[in-house]
This record gives sequence, C-alpha cells and structure tokens, in this order.
Amino acid sequence: MSKRGRTSERIPLSVPTLEASAWSYVKDCLDTGWVSSAGKYVTRFEESVAEYTGASHAVAVCSGTAALHLAYLVAGVSPGDTVLVPTLTFIATVNPVTYLGAKPFFVDVDARTWNVSAETLAAALQQARKAGLRPRHAVVTHLYGVPADMAPIMELCEREGLTLIEDAAESLGSFYRGAHTGTFGRVAALSFNGNKIITTGGGGMILTGDAVLAKRARHLSTQARPNAEVYAHDDVGFNYRLTNLQAALGVSQMESLPRFRDRRREIQKHYLEAFARENWLVPQAQPQGVESNGWLFGVSINSASLTRDQALAALAEVNIEARPVFQPIHEQPMYRGTEARCPVAESVSRVALNLPNSPGISETAVSDVMLTLGKVPASAV
Ligand SMILES: *Cc1c(COP(=O)(O)O)cnc(C)c1O
Repeated sequence: MSKRGRTSERIPLSVPTLEASAWSYVKDCLDTGWVSSAGKYVTRFEESVAEYTGASHAVAVCSGTAALHLAYLVAGVSPGDTVLVPTLTFIATVNPVTYLGAKPFFVDVDARTWNVSAETLAAALQQARKAGLRPRHAVVTHLYGVPADMAPIMELCEREGLTLIEDAAESLGSFYRGAHTGTFGRVAALSFNGNKIITTGGGGMILTGDAVLAKRARHLSTQARPNAEVYAHDDVGFNYRLTNLQAALGVSQMESLPRFRDRRREIQKHYLEAFARENWLVPQAQPQGVESNGWLFGVSINSASLTRDQALAALAEVNIEARPVFQPIHEQPMYRGTEARCPVAESVSRVALNLPNSPGISETAVSDVMLTLGKVPASAV
C-alpha cells in the first residue's frame, strides 16, 4: 500500500527545472543592461530553436498565443474566414482566430491519439461545406506532445487547398517520422510558458520555412516599424517581442532540452509499462513512427466502477496533482452554438486526465501515482 497521505510532499503536474547556466545568462543581461527587446540572447535563442527543430526561420515572441496570432495573420487568415481547428486543445489555439475576425469550425479527434486526423478533418470540411462555408486554413495541435499523423493530413490539405498551420506549443522535442513537429505546415507556433517542456517564464516562437512570412511576422511583432530610429510605421503592428532577459533563460533551457526530454520519456515509459497491465487505464496512443517529448501523460479511465473525477479526487487526497484533460472548445460559452459535431472529443474529455510528468519528479513519485491509481478500483467497487 502507498504510504502517501494528505500531508505528503506535493507531486506537481509540470514544473520548470532551472539550471545553473540560467543564472549566468540572466546575470549577464543584468550586468550589461541588455534587459529589453534587443540583445544577443534573443538571436541566440532563435538560432538554437531553429537548429534543434530544423526550421529555416524562427521568430521569438512574448507568448505562444502571440505566436499563434501572428502565425494565423501571416498565413492569410482574414476577417470572415472559416478556420478548421481542433476542439480538444488549449483555448489559445482558437482565440487568435477570433482576434482576426475569422470563425473557428471545430474538428473532432481520433479516439486513440486524441489528435485531429485526416479523417476527422475531412469530415469537418464536408460538414462546413454543407453549411455553405469555405474553410481555407486548417490548424493541427500536437496534443500533450504527441505528434498528429501528418502525412495523410498534409495530403488532405494539399488536395483540398487548405493552408496547414501547426500549434506545436506542447511539442518542442517531438518528432514525426524523423522531422520535428512544427516543420510540416506553412507556419507553426511554439510556447515557452512556465508549464511547457522548456520555459522563458512566458514566451513563444513562430517557425516557418518561408522567409517572406518570417520577415512579415518579425516586422508585425515590433510595431511594424521599418527603421528603429524613427517613428514611422507601415502597418498595424503589435508589441509582441520577447525580451533579452527571457531569451537568456531560453538559451539555458535549450541546452537542457535533450535531458528534460529524455527524463520525461523515461517517466512516460514507466507509466506505459505499469498501465499495460491494467486494461481499464487507456493511455493516449502514440502512432507508429512518432517520438513524443513526453510533455504530459494522458490516460483515460475506462471503468464502470470508477469515474475520472473519482480518480482525480483519489490523487488529490494524497497530494498528487493531476488534471482533467482540456474541455472541448465548442463547449466553452464564447464558442457554443456552432455547427460542430465532435462526439469523440466530448467523450475523451469526460474520461481522461493528465498525470504528473515533470523531469524533477522521482521514481517514488511515479510509483506513488501508479499505486494510488492501481488501488482505486478495488476500493471503489
Ligand atoms: C500553452 C499553449 C498555447 C499558448 O501558449 P502561451 O505561451 O501560454 O500563450 C497554445 N496552444 C496550446 C496547445 C498550448 O498548450
């Protein structure tokens, strides 16, 4: 039996690990006075992410949400457009569609991977067209770091004339058939929020293979000011730049990314091995040929005797932080009443939860989680 109790040390869901180099890089910014939106760390951070992901161009911005906003804008999302978006994702995948005066059309997910697929996208496209809508863009999220099945999705987008955009906010360090997520679409967004696999406190990045799009995104992120010496602007821009202080943290975190990723994948492996023996615990599936970064571990509770919320309560009881998976966006008050038919996302969102997976958590923490969950069905019957 687990020795954990209400007063045991908290096992957090996902917390940042900050390493020694972070201190020296941030101190360097403070010592030199380069703390704001210019400085060598911004460029270094962009270069290290571009090199790691293989993206030709990387533009640092102040959040993942800002990165998505600019990504959609430069990809041509315009007022009145309809954009295909997953419904099982974080709200920030969808809100920037609204910022641009366009309308989201929600796409259901695959029951095993929880990601949109070529099938669910095709079904949504058909539904949208039946409703007289003409989507020109499709957004794909790599949920909890598990890459979506990109080859058939790219084929579909090509055939149907859809511009593909990737929300890779959760999937830095995740690869699909050897290529990094965020390098398949026209443009993609990363996030460096505090809970992501690496953090800058807050931050994001736009990835693209298109030099013109990258240049426009960078320009729009800095108030659309062609010459930093004078106050002349040639477009409606934004103040979306990342600061040198944040980028200094980012450079340090990029150095640690391979280790963070290995550690998360190791924890993921422990969960997978333990859950393989419990047929009522069904982890988010990873298709052949993908390498997830192990960002968050997702599992469905498929038990007649135990609800997801009872499992969450049992974990909370022994001070283990778990969370329900995302609530479908088409169920949020601002987005209700759309044409969406997303029964799979609705059912996954009722039975699935995320388990703690920070690189800092110990082997005992992992086994405590497994023990607590393993114990639950017996005591719940
Ligand atoms: C975190 C996240 C974002 C937004 O990133 P922020 O940096 O918090 O603005 C967007 N999409 C997904 C799927 C995310 O998980």
